[in-house]
Formats: sequence, C-alpha cells, structure tokens
Amino acid sequence: MKLILRGHHLLCLKGFQGYGYDESFTENMTDVNVKRKQPGTAVTLVSSPDDICRSCPNLINNMCENEKQNARIVNMDNAVLKNFDTSIEHDSVELFDRIDDIFSTKESVCEICFNCIWHEKCLFYQNLSDNR
Ligand code: SF4
Ligand code: SF4
Repeated sequence: MKLILRGHHLLCLKGFQGYGYDESFTENMTDVNVKRKQPGTAVTLVSSPDDICRSCPNLINNMCENEKQNARIVNMDNAVLKNFDTSIEHDSVELFDRIDDIFSTKESVCEICFNCIWHEKCLFYQNLSDNR
C-alpha cells in the first residue's frame, strides 16, 4: 500500500476523529487514516495536493482554495517536512510515531496549526502539552 501525503496532514491524520468538509471528504479521510496505520504502508511526502486533498471541496485548479491560501498551506507543509527526507518513501507506522516525538507541545506546532479552524475537533491538537 502506498500513500502520498502533504506534510501538515501527518498531524491532521493523528487528530482525525470523523469530522470534515463534507461526506466525501470524511469518507476518504477515514480510508486514508486506516491505510496509514497498516504495517507495510509506504508514504511519499509532498507539499502539494495529496491523497486527502483529492476528495476535498476546497481543491480548485489543483490549489487549496486560492493562491494566497495555497501558499499558507504549503508553508504549513514545509514546517513539517523540514524534519524529514522527502526524497525517499517512509514506513508509515514509523513516520507517524516520529510525529509524536517532534511535535509534542502547542508551541512546536505554532507555524502549522495557528490558523486552523479544527482546533476544537482535533485530538492531536487537544492532546498537545501547553508546556514550552
Ligand atoms: S489543529 Fe488543524 S492543522 Fe493542526 S493538526 Fe489539527 S487539524 Fe491539522
Ligand atoms: S485542499 Fe486544502 S483544505 Fe482541502 S485537504 Fe487539501 S490542504 Fe486541506
């Protein structure tokens, strides 16, 4: 099994508990979230539309909403991707384990999550420590 995931979605998948933009998005996100937990799944990391974006109503002309928002999203991806080698495929289980080590406080995700509308619904964000 292979997945293509943009950087910031590694965090979002860890926080996913069934909410999304519409039914199609939520079904696909649920499917990706199952696949990323399966032993043997390989992940390619990107800062462009991925296996989650492809079912998102906000994806327009291969961009997230518009140029300004898309640039903001790419910055979120890059804040995650600077911690990983994007030239190789990653073992999914190990990759997602590393996310917990790298991002453990609210300060550590400030560049990624600061403007997100899902703070209240995101288990990953909710479980981060307030400690600095
Ligand atoms: S708070 Fe938003 S951006 Fe941050 S991990 Fe959760 S869903 Fe993703
Ligand atoms: S298109 Fe934008 S809002 Fe939709 S999943 Fe991709 S990054 Fe998130």
